[in-house]
Amino acid sequence: MTVQPIILGGGLAGLSACYHGNGVVYEKDSSPGGHARSHSANGFVFDEGIHVLHTTNKYVLSLMEEIKADLILKDRNAWIMSNGAMTRYPFQANTYGLPVDIVKECLIGFVQNEFDDPDKIKNYEDWLYYMFGKGITERFMIPYSKKFWGVEPRELTTEWVNIRHPRPSLDEVISGALQDQTKGFGVNARFRYPSEGGFGNVAEALARQCRDRVQLGMRATRIDVKNREIEFNGEECRRYENIISTLRLPEVIRIITDAPDAVREAASKLRTNSLFVVNVGVDRENISDKSWIYFLEKEFSFVRVSFPFNFSNAVTPDGTSSISAEVAYGNGNSLPTSKDKIADRVLDDLVKAKLLFKEDKIIHVNTIDVKYGYVIFDKSRKPAVNVIHRFLKEKGIVPCGRYGMWGYLWSDEAILSGKKAAEALLRDPP
Ligand SMILES: Cc1cc2nc3c(=O)[nH]c(=O)nc-3n(C[C@H](O)[C@H](O)[C@H](O)COP(=O)(O)OP(=O)(O)OC[C@H]3O[C@@H](n4cnc5c(N)ncnc54)[C@H](O)[C@@H]3O)c2cc1C
Repeated sequence: MTVQPIILGGGLAGLSACYHGNGVVYEKDSSPGGHARSHSANGFVFDEGIHVLHTTNKYVLSLMEEIKADLILKDRNAWIMSNGAMTRYPFQANTYGLPVDIVKECLIGFVQNEFDDPDKIKNYEDWLYYMFGKGITERFMIPYSKKFWGVEPRELTTEWVNIRHPRPSLDEVISGALQDQTKGFGVNARFRYPSEGGFGNVAEALARQCRDRVQLGMRATRIDVKNREIEFNGEECRRYENIISTLRLPEVIRIITDAPDAVREAASKLRTNSLFVVNVGVDRENISDKSWIYFLEKEFSFVRVSFPFNFSNAVTPDGTSSISAEVAYGNGNSLPTSKDKIADRVLDDLVKAKLLFKEDKIIHVNTIDVKYGYVIFDKSRKPAVNVIHRFLKEKGIVPCGRYGMWGYLWSDEAILSGKKAAEALLRDPP
């Protein structure tokens, strides 16, 4: 008798593997969704940091219809606060509004770019100089990168960049320096968001389709790859033939008894940044017309501030607004203050950024510590991931999802990754 595959983790990748295959999801938390879940309290619904669906993948869009995720299409209205000015996103195409000497520096750097040989690109920093020239790179890209990742851009590779950094034409760079350019750039110029329930509604809709094949409160605590046994919550043991794992690679290796030293060593080299999210409910309506704002300078504790009430009418009580601020930390970046004081610091900074008035009534605050945020693409990543993946596959464990692949997977890519893992197992069972 074949045993149903065990799917570890009920985030989007695990739920998608369940929906597209015949496995059963085991999720440690009491609700599904992983990083893509939403949290409700006091009439406010917040996601774990900004979450919008900016896919153009036809299959994912049809799946969203099929599972009734109930998405609405929105135009992005994203901005950047830097050098004392608020400019449109992305920086490279919209320098209008910055101090004139900075605009000049960015334009000259773009036109007279001395880094013009792509064969000389060895790391992310080189790539930035090559793509955008000195002014844009030094005035925004490098300092923002350090604030977000906590590592020097020259430590990063270029495997992950491509569409994440649109390169405007010279015409667009000049137009965006001379006037307010409203044209949308990049993959998320338009995005989708559930009309109700926050972004978490996508995971909830997938989980509904999987019915009783999602088991909550089931933390995998030990995997014995020799005897093909898996233990949950330190007590319950089950036999397995195959596992689809969406767990963070260092964590899945940690619970495997007898993982070779070389594999443990590889797992110790993997890094992500972390994000401390502060969610705020304000007793004032329409506090901003923006979708989100990036903050360059360290005088602001957050890297990004988003306004969920502008994504859906159903995530705030009437007459109120909501703000979600993300403070990046980890690697070379320490938190600006201790975790219990960050919410106060963020509120002060929101006043400094003129997004809140001092006298605004704050009616809700909660915080979420996202320990595994964005994967760091440094030179160790690829060889370390190869060692770990080879070992896992030998033992009948198929990794998928953002942290199983240890990549820069957005939610649509996590869904596709779970589908691919499940279908491969259906097609080619061991
Ligand atoms: C701050 C932030 C902002 C983002 N913004 C966007 C965005 O705007 N748009 C977008 O498309 N994507 C965005 N993403 C990416 C998106 O969240 C991910 O691609 C997606 O949620 C990954 O899903 P996953 O299932 O691969 O992983 P996860 O969501 O990490 O799911 C893994 C699951 O495994 C469970 N688990 C862990 N350990 C165990 C264990 N031992 N036993 C059982 N279960 C366990 C966890 O609880 C979790 O539910 C963002 C990510 C972050 C961190």
